[in-house]
Amino acid sequence: MSDCLFCKIARGEIPCRKVYEDDDVIAFHDINPVAPVHFMLVPKLHLASLMEADEAHAALLGRMLLLAPKLAKEQGLENGFRTVINTGKGGGQEVLHLHIHIIGGGNIPPMVRRS
Ligand code: AMP
Ligand code: ZN
Repeated sequence: MSDCLFCKIARGEIPCRKVYEDDDVIAFHDINPVAPVHFMLVPKLHLASLMEADEAHAALLGRMLLLAPKLAKEQGLENGFRTVINTGKGGGQEVLHLHIHIIGGGNIPPMVRRS
């Protein structure tokens, strides 16, 4: 998509701190990290969110999930990491191109704070 931020990054039109790239996916550090390690795994195919994914994307999504621990380990997260996929307005998604956040290092708090 021409005016999509992550499509532009995937095409090399906007710079990023790249972690990994192949024909189908790109991974790069989040510009505003919430933890010492915070990068995103992004399909090069424009899919606005998980809501738009269907059976045709099963292999791509599976590959991304399997890539996550590999890249996380390469970034020093041998002890584990958090994956987050925000989906749509209801999920707080800001960039409308599907992405998996991979977050770790330091002190990772409980994901949902219960008062
Ligand atoms: P989400 O709320 O799941 O849509 O997350 C979007 C993420 O993209 C946020 O964590 C932003 O900090 C990150 N972000 C926005 N612009 C850029 C950029 N140019 N390069 C890297 N990360 C970005
Ligand atoms: Zn896009």
